[in-house]
Order: sequence, then structure tokens, then C-alpha cells
Amino acid sequence: MHAPASLQRHIWWQLLGVVGMFASGIALSIWFSLRAGSQEQQNLLQLEATQAHVSVVRLLDYYHTMLDKAARDPDLIDLMRVGSVAEQQAWALSRQRLLPDLLGVALVGPRGEVLGNALSLRVGPRCQQDMQRAGTLMDIRPLLHREIAGAEHFDLISVVRDTGGEILGGVFVSVRLAQVQRIVDDTLHPGHALVVLDSAGNTIARRGEIEGPRQEVRQDIPATGWTLIAQSPVKVLTRSGKMQVLAGLVTLGAVLLLLGMGMLRVRRAMLNDIVSTRDALTALARDEPVPTIMPHYVEFEAAAHDINLIALHLQEQRARLEHLSLTDPLTGLPNRRAFETRFPQAQGLAERQHPVALALLDIDHFKGVNDRFGHGVGDQVLLALAQSLKDLTRRADLSARLAGDEFVVLLSDLDADGLNAWYQRLADRFRSELNAFGLDLQTGLSAGQTWLGAASRDSIDDALMRADHALYQAKALGRGRMVLYVEPGVEPGVEPGPGGAG
Ligand code: GH3
Ligand code: MG
Repeated sequence: MHAPASLQRHIWWQLLGVVGMFASGIALSIWFSLRAGSQEQQNLLQLEATQAHVSVVRLLDYYHTMLDKAARDPDLIDLMRVGSVAEQQAWALSRQRLLPDLLGVALVGPRGEVLGNALSLRVGPRCQQDMQRAGTLMDIRPLLHREIAGAEHFDLISVVRDTGGEILGGVFVSVRLAQVQRIVDDTLHPGHALVVLDSAGNTIARRGEIEGPRQEVRQDIPATGWTLIAQSPVKVLTRSGKMQVLAGLVTLGAVLLLLGMGMLRVRRAMLNDIVSTRDALTALARDEPVPTIMPHYVEFEAAAHDINLIALHLQEQRARLEHLSLTDPLTGLPNRRAFETRFPQAQGLAERQHPVALALLDIDHFKGVNDRFGHGVGDQVLLALAQSLKDLTRRADLSARLAGDEFVVLLSDLDADGLNAWYQRLADRFRSELNAFGLDLQTGLSAGQTWLGAASRDSIDDALMRADHALYQAKALGRGRMVLYVEPGVEPGVEPGPGGAG
């Protein structure tokens, strides 16, 4: 058995699919932009670290070159070899004056002992200890000393040898850390951090602090054990990435809005078409008035047109049937059913104190007409009476053929005189219609009349029975007249007024 699918669910799935596609598109674009952003950031850090690295190496090279040059100076070699301590101290003091960026300058002996007054040469006790602990001057790498605030520095030594290669001692300088700090300050990118650490992890220079997740680039400074670190916060999204995401979201919103509105429109219109088609079909099936279908979509037009046509056709047929069922086929007058349908209306009028008369009409000696001239002429006589009735009744009145040669008329707002006058006009008219046949028909019109009861609800049967009774009397009195029904016991000849017969 084929189970029908739900159109609504189908539409929802489609919508969900579109949203899903868009969401994955945006997620992908965010991911790409994140990757691009972090790569960009990494490149920037690399550049920054390299710049700082180059500057620090250049600074160290500058002092190394200066020290090596001095260590190879024959005058200095002589001074180390044969000079007095006073002369050696004087040499150091003169260099100290020439180089204000240096904290201390001194000549040291082969075991690291200061040649001269350490205090005036500005060589601290820690510097001396470190030099002497190293054992040989050649092993000494830059030594970091930041114990005394304002005198933070690192030490460099170049070994002095005599022409035979024997170590005479060394040229010692201590360089202020402010110089490294200056490099860090000048290279730093806004929002980043730049740090130079020695091999033990002590800070040589630093600028900036990154809180939270960060990315970094490390570079080792050769022959020093120092490390340079450039850091930056991990940016979740760059500016262009944010714009990209925003554009994606706006597009998604717009597409959703358009899609939603379009779907709602289509759905409403389509459901309207389906519902109105269904309603029309239901009405058709139930024999009720069929509403005309006005389709929104051409796809429904053909079906709607057909259904509208069928409905129209059925309505016409129904109206025709209705008309036939209420019409006498020979005379075209309303029939007994129509009379029964209209009777309550006349009764209502009577109850609102309007005089309503019911007259039962019967053609006199009609059988004889049939017998002598045939049924065709009989039919013509019936038609003549019908025509007379049509001509002499108002729209508010009703005349109907009950059966055979018996007719009934409901007349409102006429008093007894008016009613008698109407009967006379009808009888005259009928007679003149018959005269046109040119036959000696020997017929006429008898009528029995009654007023519809105003006080209590009158029934058709009662009213017809009273009128029939009066008609019988009219026939008995010689035909060709109208007799008013009189309640048994009421004095004959006294005509009760309208409504008084009930
Ligand atoms: P009365 O004056 O007492 O009314 O006598 P009557 O001959 O008219 O008797 P009645 O009204 O009983 O006769 C009705 C006749 O009408 C009987 C029937 O043959 C005839 N008839 C009924 N329907 C038709 C019809 O459609 N066409 C014709 N031509 N005759 C009909
Ligand atoms: Mg008759």
C-alpha cells in the first residue's frame, strides 16, 4: 500500500538542508580565515624576532670585535706582560671614560683576578667570583648579573696571549642590560611581547606581557645560550575574518528570510488552492452549493476550471429539477408541492393580521368537455384557466394546480368584496378565453373559499378541507359561483370577516 508523503515535512526538510549547507559554508570560511589569521600572525612574530635577533647579535659582535682588537694590540700585550698594576688600572680607567655604555672595564689576570682596584674599575664581587669559578678565561660566556638595581649587566672577556700563545690574562667589560632593553623596546610590535632570556631562564630584557592564550617564535642567539622570544595573543578572528563571518551570517539571514517568506507564500497559496478544491469537491459530493475556485497557480487552473464547470452544470441541473419538482408540466403553474412549500408564508402573513384567502377552484363539467371534444380540448381548457390565473394574480399571491381540474389560489390583503370581485373577474376572463375556442363547451368555474386562521396556526389540510366543503356547496348550489366556507352552526348568509372563519 502506498503511504502518501507529507508535503509540509518535505518543505521543512528542504529548508533545513539549505540552512545546513549555508552553516557549513560559513563554518568552513571561519576555519580558513582562522588558519590564515594565525599564519599571518606567525609570520609577523618571525619577522619581529629576527629583527631583534639581528640587533642583539650585532651588539654582541660589536663588543667582541672591540675586545678582540684590544687583546691583539701589541701595546696591551706588553702592558699585560711587563706593566705595573697601576699602569694596567690606568689603561682600564681610560677605556671606561671613552665608553660610557659600559659599566666596568678591567684587565684581569690568567685566573680571573682583577688587575687594579676592582671597586674603582667597577668590577663587582659577583663578577670576580664568576670569573674565578670558571677556571679558564676561555670558557667564559656572557655572564649575567642583575643583583644590583640600576647596575644590571652582562660580562664579556677576551683572552690576551703573548706571542708564544701563553695566556697572559683577559680584557674584561661589563655591558649594561639597558642596551639590550633598548633593542627590545625599538623592535617591539604593539600588542606583542619580546623577551630575551639567558640559558638559566633569567630575564635579560623584556617588554610586554601576554595574558591568556598566546603564540610565540623562539630564536637562539649563538654562542651565548640566550634565547629570544617574540609573543602575541592568539587572535580568534582577524578583522577581515570577522567581516567574512558577518557577511556570511547576513547572507544566511537574508537567504533564510527570502526562502521562508517565499515558502510561506507558496505554501499559503498552494494550501488555499488545495483547500478550496477540496471544499468544492466536498460540496459537490454533499449536494451543497459549490464555492467557485479561484486558483493562485496555473498548475491548478485546469482542475479548478473543470470543477467549477461541473459545479455550474450541477447547479443548473439542480435548479431545473427543483423547478420541475415544483411546477405542473401541463400549465407551467406551481404544483401541489409548491403550494405546500409556500403555504407557511401565507399562514405567517395571516398571523400578522393580514387577511389571507384560500380559494379552491374546480372546472364545471370538465369530464363532459373531455368526453365530447377529447382530451386535447380538455387540456386547452386547463391552459385557459391557468392563463387567466396568471393574468389575474399579483406577485404576492399564489395560484397552483393541485390535480386534474382542481386549482388553488392564496390571495392576501383583500376583503370579502374584493375577493368576490376578483372571482368574478377570473370567471369572466376564463369564459372569454373559452369563447375563443368557438365550441359550445358548456363549462364554467366553481370556487370554495375560506380565510386562513389568524389566531391559531392553520394547517393546509384544515384550510383545504374547509375550502373543499365550500366548493362542494358551490357545486351543489348550481356551479359557476364562489361560496365562502361557514362554520357549521353559524347562521347562513352571514359572511364572517377575514380571519373569522378559522
Ligand atoms: P364537476 O362539475 O362536478 O366538477 O364535474 P366534472 O366532470 O368536472 O368532474 P371532475 O371534476 O371530478 O372531473 C375531473 C376530470 O378531469 C376527470 C379526468 O378525466 C379529467 N382530467 C384530469 N386530469 C386531466 C388532464 O390533465 N387533462 C384532461 N384533458 N383531463 C383531465
Ligand atoms: Mg370538475
